Amino acid sequence: MPLLEVKDLYLYYRTTRGPVKAVDDVSFFVPEGETLALVGESGCGKTSIGIAILRVLPVNVHLYKGTILFEGNDIMKLNDEEFRRTIRWRKISMVFQGAMNALNPVIPVGLQVAEPLIIHEGMDKDEALKIAMEALESVGLPKIVARRYPHELSGGMKQRVVIAMALIMKPRLIILDEPTSALDIITQANIMNLLKRLKREHKLSYIFITHDLALASEIADRVAVMYAGEIVELGTAEQVYLSPKHPYTQKLIAAVPTLRTEKKLEFIPGEVPSLINPPPGCRFHPRCPYKKPVCSKVRPKLIEVEKDHLVACHLYE
Ligand code: SF4
Repeated sequence: MPLLEVKDLYLYYRTTRGPVKAVDDVSFFVPEGETLALVGESGCGKTSIGIAILRVLPVNVHLYKGTILFEGNDIMKLNDEEFRRTIRWRKISMVFQGAMNALNPVIPVGLQVAEPLIIHEGMDKDEALKIAMEALESVGLPKIVARRYPHELSGGMKQRVVIAMALIMKPRLIILDEPTSALDIITQANIMNLLKRLKREHKLSYIFITHDLALASEIADRVAVMYAGEIVELGTAEQVYLSPKHPYTQKLIAAVPTLRTEKKLEFIPGEVPSLINPPPGCRFHPRCPYKKPVCSKVRPKLIEVEKDHLVACHLYE
């Protein structure tokens, strides 16, 4: 049984121009101890999947439905209070994109890390702070950092604080939304190594959200490629990187620069479609070099092209 199984998930946002179909019938699973990388261009719905799983929804939700099984239980059936008490941060936590810039500037970071223990567990402040210091140590920061304010820390240190916050309730699954995108390359490498170590030591599972395929290859066991609110390819990291099947995945990989070869970098013509009026049929068809007449009419379903390797493309039907 996978730790997390998402089936037929939809999340649409209400706008004056019509619903934005950010997550449109998405299914995947995350086995215990594995990392699923969710990759795709900006605006394809990756972050929306994260907030749908953690149920931190904005007020303009138009449609939110599907099945989310965690440890075998359908957590979509829990009411908001039950979800807050039993799942959010306790079982599933998230490192939000840009969260390090959202730390409260007038509260020492140790107290910010300890806050869930005080609120969820009813711990007294001193006890919670002691555990927060241990969490800070586990992410490679000295205990003394607990007394510092965010402006006294570097970007890399702040990101470690945010990761300590996500770890504090000992969750089994952490959703990491572009956790290194605001960091310089050396700090990025250090944070990636930290995430790998934490995963090993705490037997964590991750959903790693990124637009950076090369970065995802560092940590992913499996990869889901998203395009315009849908998953178009899903497989092991080896399958997706070494033998990509969907034309969009092939183009994305061809656009990644490499040091050792002189390959000509490709680009994908056109732009990501509007999620209010996505193209009919295959949403990639206006940009696809292999499109057939059927592509603009019928939405391709995810089908298995080899064991554990799923692709939504009419070329494989
Ligand atoms: Fe291209 Fe058609 Fe496949 Fe879409 S379904 S990726 S348009 S070949």
